[in-house]
Amino acid sequence: MKILILSRNRNLYSTRRLEEAARESGHDVRVIDYLRCVMDITAHRPKVFYQGEALLDVDAVIPRIGASHTFYGTAVVRQFEMMGTFCLNSSQAIARSRDKLRCLQLLSRRGIGLPVTGFASSTKDVQGVIDLVGGAPLVVKLLEGTQGIGVVLCETSKAAESVIEAFRGLNADILVQEYIKEAGSTDLRCFVVGDRVVAAMKRIGAPGEFRSNLHRGGTAAKTKITPEERTTAVRSAKAMGLRVAGVDLLRSNHGPVVMEVNSSPGLEGIESATESDVAGRIVRFIERHAKPGSNWDRIVG
Ligand code: ADP
Ligand code: MG
Repeated sequence: MKILILSRNRNLYSTRRLEEAARESGHDVRVIDYLRCVMDITAHRPKVFYQGEALLDVDAVIPRIGASHTFYGTAVVRQFEMMGTFCLNSSQAIARSRDKLRCLQLLSRRGIGLPVTGFASSTKDVQGVIDLVGGAPLVVKLLEGTQGIGVVLCETSKAAESVIEAFRGLNADILVQEYIKEAGSTDLRCFVVGDRVVAAMKRIGAPGEFRSNLHRGGTAAKTKITPEERTTAVRSAKAMGLRVAGVDLLRSNHGPVVMEVNSSPGLEGIESATESDVAGRIVRFIERHAKPGSNWDRIVG
């Protein structure tokens, strides 16, 4: 198969592993910097050019779109979709997953467990949102943050009020969320490929840190997840229309709750913590499912 990996940097662990796994299985694989792709949007014959060369007869595209380039990156993925090329995650599903509010709204419709979450635009309604999530301690987070940046734990209502007002003063959109204290600074990353969780790890926050992100100094370990956690992760990916997803769960007193669903989950942490060949699982999935024109996304929202 002719496979393209859309990635800004071929030296990133995830990109390298996907390239290696595809090559080992005998595929013709290339890494393409999507910011260097030029789109020709002509009636009937949409094309993508890369350094002057038309990218034709591609069997599958693996998008690895960075959070800071969602707009251009998803436009390139969409262009491949218009050409009928199989894209592992669709442009719409990627765009959807980038917005934490949209993501939680879609999950809530499916009845998937979530931390109680509020959203408001006006600072006049701050107290209302704080009450909605049951008061302090609570978590405030930027709608489009990643790697734990923009996620703040507010211990008191007064602190929460100030943080919310400060963010809103900067015109930043934020979610206000119930703090799941019992999770003990630990979350679960479930790596979903198709309708299976192919690997799962537990991430534990650094001492004194409630965020468990590896980028914030957290450590990862292989873990066994319950059947309920497994179904929650798979249903979440499906609700977002993602074939490959990193679903982050917290273990709350009322069962697993989803914090977010990532469309370009990293491979390094999960492969080293679980010693599993996640890249290989992704390639196997593409081999089984890549058919031209199978991109249509029927999710409303
Ligand atoms: P990011 O996209 O920046 O990773 P997350 O929403 O995943 O943002 O939050 C980062 C980390 O903060 C999570 O992995 C988790 O450890 C912690 N966290 C986030 N929300 C909550 C919450 N409501 N209760 C407890 N811990 C939380
Ligand atoms: Mg996260």
